[in-house]
Amino acid sequence: MNRGEPPNIVKSRSIQFADSNVADKEQSALIKFLKETNTPMMPEKKIALVSFKTNLRLRDNECLFTAVLENDIVVPFYCLDDHLFQTTAFQFKKAGAFRLKFLKESLQQLDQDLRAVGSGLVLVKGNPEEEILKLVKEYGAQRIYAEKEAAPEELITQKKVTDKLLSLNCSFSTFECRNLYHADDLPFSLEQLPDVFTAFRKSIENTVSIRPVLPKPLAIVSPPMAALNLAVLNELDSTDIIADPRAAIQFKGGTEQAQQRLHYYFYETSALSTYKQTRNGMVGERYSSKFSAWLALGCISAREIYEAIKEYDVAYGANESTYWLVFELFWRDYFGFCMQINPKRYFQRKGNIQSVAVNTDQFNIMLNHWVNGTTGVPFIDANMIELKLTGFMSNRGRQNVASYLCNDLCLDWRYGAAYFEQQLIDYDVCNNWGNWAYLAGVGNDPRKNRYFNIDKQSAIYDPDQVFQQLWLKA
Ligand code: FAD
Repeated sequence: MNRGEPPNIVKSRSIQFADSNVADKEQSALIKFLKETNTPMMPEKKIALVSFKTNLRLRDNECLFTAVLENDIVVPFYCLDDHLFQTTAFQFKKAGAFRLKFLKESLQQLDQDLRAVGSGLVLVKGNPEEEILKLVKEYGAQRIYAEKEAAPEELITQKKVTDKLLSLNCSFSTFECRNLYHADDLPFSLEQLPDVFTAFRKSIENTVSIRPVLPKPLAIVSPPMAALNLAVLNELDSTDIIADPRAAIQFKGGTEQAQQRLHYYFYETSALSTYKQTRNGMVGERYSSKFSAWLALGCISAREIYEAIKEYDVAYGANESTYWLVFELFWRDYFGFCMQINPKRYFQRKGNIQSVAVNTDQFNIMLNHWVNGTTGVPFIDANMIELKLTGFMSNRGRQNVASYLCNDLCLDWRYGAAYFEQQLIDYDVCNNWGNWAYLAGVGNDPRKNRYFNIDKQSAIYDPDQVFQQLWLKA
């Protein structure tokens, strides 16, 4: 699809950069650059750091867009947070091998995309509050541009960063990069967000405009950038992953792969035109869009997908399927906004049903059976094995295994959510904890006890047991 060239949003500048061979001498090249451009002597020269986290793209990135508009020099960076490698209170790793591999691929692509416009990605690892402080000092940055966070842990990290910056005269601004709708455009304040999804959807869908996709900068003025830090990047490698040929899709991170997937789903296969009928499927690459992993790291934005759907509607005709993909993106927004207004609610144990008291040994045995797909319930086990071996599970599968953990095993739902956090290649804090809380009766759902009858579900959604045979055969 030819969208036409976006306008060059960078004013022309006379700064010339040193040769990119400076990789090993980053520090001295930076000093030379600052001297040559008189940066320290010219306080009017504005230097900004742009934080990349779950907005790993150049297009439709409000952070980057605003930073490039408002500053003379922009330094894009990603801080690989040490916490990602830790084990949580729920016994699982924060990020498992599938997530880390996808992140690695996405960062490599982001660096390539940035280099194509004259910049590059600074990759650091450690505690964000310490690493970002070092970057501010190193580059003499006066301002940091970052994504708006919604969830408690992420907010705490951001607060630690902003506290450290107080002493440095460096400001910290956040921008919305996740949702279809901009919070500023909602017809109500976030505190008045409807408690029920349908009320939320009805209040926005025909009344509020979705902002157009922001163009990507055609040029970014940065100091000489060393090659992507491979030592840090290689921390994301894992020997634990063996590509399973049964996987619904072989995910690969990055903006290019996201666009290829969109092209495949919309234009090569027209699968979008039948999405509403197929979306509850469980086998193969066409039953649903599989956009979730790229959305989770921001390799594609919800607005980019929305615009592509509207273009598809014009070219091939709108129908209830093309509408339904937008409908699902409304759900994504809803969980995003819910998290913003009440972050702690989505991590509380108290729910309606997980009340059966089990001792620790019993608890661990039951949880392990669930995790490893050895509960003896074929529909549950097949889904859990798929998740373990591929990092992905269909939406239908997720609902069933979550209900099973909450309602049949009567275990604390947060262990299920924490395992998903480790394992899901598309882990998104708002979607994951929001959906789990919703099913556990802790979220906004007015109905208590969302029980899925597993036998019935299996009979409806896997009537010939194609899915179960795929994952349970020896
Ligand atoms: P499609 O059916 O093609 O939908 C398109 C997009 O709409 C998805 O990529 C997603 O961004 C959004 N979407 C669809 N369903 C939902 C939903 N129920 N809630 C919010 N957004 C939705 N989704 C994640 O992206 N990350 C998670 O960590 C996550 N954890 C979940 C945990 C549980 C217990 C449940 C029940 C659902 C979870 N989901 C999560 C939502 C949903 O299952 C996945 O988004 C979907 O299966 C991903 O496949 P897809 O991209 O092919 O979806």
